[in-house]
Amino acid sequence: MFIKKVKLTLSALLLNGVIVGHANAWSDHNLITYPVLQSMPEVADQAPVPVETLTEFVTAEAQGLEDLLAANEVWLRENFPHYKPRPDAIAFDADSSDLLLSFIHAIRINPEAPLTPYIKLLPAQDTQGRRLMQASEVAVYSNLNDYKKLRFVEVKSGDMVTPLEVLSSANDDPDNGLDIGLFEDNGTPAGKMYGFGEQAFGNPAVEFSSQAPFHMAFYHEASILYTLAPFLNDTFPDYRVHMYKALAEYAFRTGHDYWGWRFMGWGLHYVGDMSMPYHATLQPGVSTASSIWTNTKDVMGFPQAKTDAIQLLSNRHFVTEKFQAVIINDAYAEQDSSSVVLEALTKQTPAVEYTDSTFVDVFAKKSYDKSDKLADYLIRFVPAKLVSDPSFEVDGSEEIEQVVELIRDEHGHDGLSEMTNMVGELMHDHNANTRSFVKSVLQSKN
Ligand SMILES: [Zn+2]
Repeated sequence: MFIKKVKLTLSALLLNGVIVGHANAWSDHNLITYPVLQSMPEVADQAPVPVETLTEFVTAEAQGLEDLLAANEVWLRENFPHYKPRPDAIAFDADSSDLLLSFIHAIRINPEAPLTPYIKLLPAQDTQGRRLMQASEVAVYSNLNDYKKLRFVEVKSGDMVTPLEVLSSANDDPDNGLDIGLFEDNGTPAGKMYGFGEQAFGNPAVEFSSQAPFHMAFYHEASILYTLAPFLNDTFPDYRVHMYKALAEYAFRTGHDYWGWRFMGWGLHYVGDMSMPYHATLQPGVSTASSIWTNTKDVMGFPQAKTDAIQLLSNRHFVTEKFQAVIINDAYAEQDSSSVVLEALTKQTPAVEYTDSTFVDVFAKKSYDKSDKLADYLIRFVPAKLVSDPSFEVDGSEEIEQVVELIRDEHGHDGLSEMTNMVGELMHDHNANTRSFVKSVLQSKN
């Protein structure tokens, strides 16, 4: 009974407070991925390819996709111990009268997500005469405030686009709503149909939060935590990466290069999420014993330590993302290629050979291993109010908007450099991971 209660209270650690505002990891993945891709000749030097709609692709390749997805499903069931099988009733059917919908169901993405071809522009990039699109033509959210400064342009079937711009734009697609509303308790028809079960963490009633278990994963915690909190296994980024990699390779093999690059971008999104330690670690900087003790006190009727822990976890997660967003946007605005972050993202970095276990064993592990250091840096170099005061809510505060200035005021230029170098280290990992994944997928391209 007691253990059962500890289990329940551990799951609350990842409830709405932590996830609601920021299941994004890095905001605007394209900003951190573009510099890496631009420094890879195997991407940057590729000739333009014609745009193809998803309907055109699945219609041209119906039988091949049916076979591919069936084989992939068998592989996933055999190889991923915590996989939630795709129900047989929604397997892709090459004879379906609505091939697009059959495909969307089979790969279990949000049927509401617009899959229209588009290009996401970099800051200050010219529209090249293309029509600027509304954010609602690209993303599903009822609140699109985060999209105010982002610009998307329309491309149509047959238009020529560079692989670099397709891949870099597609890298953000999963944050535009592909993974929203897919659980049984999200109150959506797709959630009832897809077989992912109930949402393990994040608030199922909050739209954006429902993507959390697809964009975060805890593969490397102490084994007792999985006993106390089996829900820690109910995450899906590894499945997403495996499926999109298989689809990208298939598209390249069959000459549908636009979808080769676009599916590769979708897979690459989750690779990017994993380089953010707060997406790969339950409680960065907090020992397993301390985490369990906090939860035990909660069960015994002393919930304050738990409430505080949730707030601090949430604040530190948010501060990391905001700090990174400010310095990468500044680097673009100043076109400063010698900035720590852009240098970390463009350096020719050795890439490990990508295999089916690399995502979990290498990418997520590197991030998990850096989580203590990141938490330590936050505590040392960010003003205490933002990262060590559980009575303060960072999200929506005036202070978070000035996070860089506040760090400089309190810890001087050296403190700011320390934090910037810390983010540079994470960007360096993102660089290496991106190279590894892209090189592997491109082996299928002739
Ligand atoms: Zn994400």
